[in-house]
Amino acid sequence: MYTKNRILVTGGAGFIGSYLVDRLIEKGNIITVFDNLSSGKIEFIEKHLENPDFTLIKGDLLDHKEIERACKDIDYVFHVAANPDVRLGTSDTKVHFDQNILASYNLLEAMRKNSVKKIAFTSTSTIYGEAHIMPTPENYGPLIPISLYGASKLACEALITSYSHTFDMQAWVFRFANIVGTRSTHGIIVDFIKKLRENPTQLEILGDGKQEKSYLHVSECVDAILYAIEKSKKDVNIFNIGSEDTISATRIGDTIVEEMRLSGVRFTYTGGNRGWKGDVPRMRLDIEKLKAIGWKPVYTSERSVRETARALIKGD
Ligand code: NAD
Repeated sequence: MYTKNRILVTGGAGFIGSYLVDRLIEKGNIITVFDNLSSGKIEFIEKHLENPDFTLIKGDLLDHKEIERACKDIDYVFHVAANPDVRLGTSDTKVHFDQNILASYNLLEAMRKNSVKKIAFTSTSTIYGEAHIMPTPENYGPLIPISLYGASKLACEALITSYSHTFDMQAWVFRFANIVGTRSTHGIIVDFIKKLRENPTQLEILGDGKQEKSYLHVSECVDAILYAIEKSKKDVNIFNIGSEDTISATRIGDTIVEEMRLSGVRFTYTGGNRGWKGDVPRMRLDIEKLKAIGWKPVYTSERSVRETARALIKGD
């Protein structure tokens, strides 16, 4: 089904986007990456630059004319671009509104004007807020996000589903757990490695270290996305994507210490049950819907974290 589709990937030079691009190219599609390179890197997509089936547009979703031009003759949009930094919302209240909500609106308008009918969107577990059903299924409600980031992604979902209904589009919405892998530029693994390189005797952990969350390797995440698009054909298709277990922040610390072959590292905690305002301390997604169509993860959270830490430490 993916062969020779013309696919626009917003945020295709970023962490998850660039892995998605690798896989879509492997499958023989014609890819345009639309990315402002704010956190994305040319080196992540460098190997495709000479490929005649690959185009890079260095553009910003806030420039509606630019994205409108990029949507010409496109079959599918994978909307991956966003500002994914949850913590940023505590100091900058506008960034997620602009980079996520307004950017998605501009994209949807560009799609509508160019009659592009299919969109896949990378959403997040943070739209559930502090869910009291664990694992949390897709039909959990009410949805009460506790971060400005979560709020912005929920607003994006709402725009996408309403555009789909109003303008006869088809949408796939993927709510991710924590996605890890090389090319990731932020998050707990990157943060712990950086701290331990600076001071191999001590590791500061935000919160009480007991935060329990699900982690999934990016290779499995991309697998799940492409599998679900192939197997689900409703107008709006919503899937959680995550691992079936969790790992605590302290255990992640232990894993990274082991992988860096350090010993005697003293862990200190900033205290409180969450890392920062807006951090959801317990997160595990119900993936029965994905399993029912035939996909399930192979890795545990710990294995995803360990493989990522190992590769990042090696400098891959
Ligand atoms: P990332 O920062 O590596 O990728 C985002 C990409 O979007 C970057 O290449 C950036 O340059 C680009 N971008 C940002 N604003 C743009 C704009 N205005 N115009 C054009 N390009 C722009 O982040 P990521 O971790 O790969 O996340 C990808 C997506 O997955 C995001 O939508 C994020 O919300 C979602 N997500 C990520 C995780 C995770 O654990 N990494 C979890 C849940 C959801």
